[in-house]
Amino acid sequence: MKAEIIAVGTELLLGQILNTNAQYLSRELASMGIDVYFQTVVGDNMGRLRHAIELAAERADILLLTGGIGPTQDDLTKDALAAALGRSLHIDPPAMEQVERFFTSRGREMTENNRRQALVIDGSTPLPNETGLAVGVAIEQKGKFYIVLPGPPKEMKPMFDRQAKPWLLQHALTDEMPIYSTMLKFAGIGESLLEDKLLDLIQAQSDPTIAPYAKEGEVSVRISTKASTEAEAMKKLEAMEAKIRERLPEHLYANTDVPIEQTIVELMTERGLTLSAAESCTGGLLMESITAIPGSSAMFLGGIVCYSNQMKEKLLHVPHSLLEGDGAPGAVSPEVAEVLAEQVRAVADSDFGLSVTGVAGPGDSEGKPAGLVYVGLAERGRKAEVFELRFSGNRESVRVRSVKALFYQLWL
Ligand code: ATP
Ligand code: MG
Repeated sequence: MKAEIIAVGTELLLGQILNTNAQYLSRELASMGIDVYFQTVVGDNMGRLRHAIELAAERADILLLTGGIGPTQDDLTKDALAAALGRSLHIDPPAMEQVERFFTSRGREMTENNRRQALVIDGSTPLPNETGLAVGVAIEQKGKFYIVLPGPPKEMKPMFDRQAKPWLLQHALTDEMPIYSTMLKFAGIGESLLEDKLLDLIQAQSDPTIAPYAKEGEVSVRISTKASTEAEAMKKLEAMEAKIRERLPEHLYANTDVPIEQTIVELMTERGLTLSAAESCTGGLLMESITAIPGSSAMFLGGIVCYSNQMKEKLLHVPHSLLEGDGAPGAVSPEVAEVLAEQVRAVADSDFGLSVTGVAGPGDSEGKPAGLVYVGLAERGRKAEVFELRFSGNRESVRVRSVKALFYQLWL
């Protein structure tokens, strides 16, 4: 099965928004074992949109369209697809009711053009919109499968996951064996080193397939296989997971798609351990990522953003002689990272204390290069350990990766 994604919207062509929908859908289709050979972007223009649909139908079995299904005159996607298929449109009563309910519940008057959001193509399966108003469409014609999804990602993703994907599995992929996959998550290792360690496995791969990909500070490997039963698939996936684990025993932290901070929150909660943090160059990013995890209040006591030397000195008792003056190692130093971790742990009376101080960049500071970061890890009853990290990349990337690195040290 081959698929083509058609993202509709003049704002995409003008470079005003990034086509993240195509990225999301491509990734999802890949995990379903569907090949994507083309991604098309087309503006809000009836003639060109119809042309794009007809061209895609010549070279793909599945067409996924996103965008242009709202109420306004430039929302043409369903009209164009209906025209290409030689069908008409009609109002889907449940969708119409949803639109009407939206307006009455807010005491607002519904303008006539909002009816357009309830339009579906004759003979199609309406795809309910759980997070917005415009209904989606799934339809098969002459052995080709067409799906229309909304443009806003917060509507598109749930509609794809919960409506379109099951529809495709049921209608388009009936002859194919289902795909099973496991996501392995790694910390404390870069993508190139990880690939290097797994190179022979990646090159020799046929079944299961192995696909590494990297996000800021995190590397994931998806292993996928087709099998007729789940048990058979699990056997193959587990065997491959074991091989990979053997290569990188200290880096594989999870075999589901969870961020490392979630693993930390769960592990520490389970063991009844508590945590506090002192952040300099990350300015609260670490605390933000911990507290974003539901349930983190069970293990996270709090922390201090000590951005200035004054705050480091006053609140966390870093000796002045370490921060300033002749021969002082300075704020970005292993000595300061150590005091920060120990002091914040003591103030919070937590089991562990984390600290991070570094040069986020751009540009050097205290004569130290951008990307140099020290992270400290203090544990009750023990001297703090400090690790030196050297990142390349921009300010944001240095900050994000520093946080990930801290979680990794804690996980170890
Ligand atoms: P609406 O009801 O909001 O008009 P729509 O289905 O008609 O939704 P569009 O009008 O094409 O969709 O786009 C609405 C918004 O959705 C865009 O301004 C943009 O923020 C987002 N969006 C649209 N297409 C994409 C895309 N391919 N990738 C990421 N975001 C997108
Ligand atoms: Mg629109």
